[in-house]
Amino acid sequence: MSLKVWQSNKVTEPSARPSRITRQGQAVLSVVDSSESFRSAQDIHAELRAAGEAVGLTTVYRHLALLTEDGQLDALQTADGELVYRRCRSSQHHHHVVCRQCRRGTEVQLPDLEQWAESTAHALGYTEVSHTVEIFGLCSACSIDTGTAPP
Ligand SMILES: [Zn+2]
Ligand SMILES: [Zn+2]
Ligand SMILES: [Zn+2]
Repeated sequence: MSLKVWQSNKVTEPSARPSRITRQGQAVLSVVDSSESFRSAQDIHAELRAAGEAVGLTTVYRHLALLTEDGQLDALQTADGELVYRRCRSSQHHHHVVCRQCRRGTEVQLPDLEQWAESTAHALGYTEVSHTVEIFGLCSACSIDTGTAPP
């Protein structure tokens, strides 16, 4: 059986539509772009202000939501419920392994998981199946810092 790559369940509009990304949106994007880590709206806002961008936190939230909706950013929720953002290289469906401490994120493909999620839901009679899976841990650098790295 060939493995289908699931699109997220948001509606994909024709690519010919004009971009809604404003200059300020581009500034938000470039700040997000400058780090491998997932970051909160507050972090991104602080960095924009530090770079001399006169932008309010509410505006940053709005841009982040828009960019995520546009498929330019990935958003996920940390264990303490905070929404954090990152720009991934892959536009294909993927998952993230995220460091709990520094929030560094790595994109991963999990073909076994895709198949398992699909067949489990199909066995229960579900169609239009989607899933959300994020993996959290301590990255190798943070493991060394906290002394939890294997000897
Ligand atoms: Zn991603
Ligand atoms: Zn880390
Ligand atoms: Zn998946």
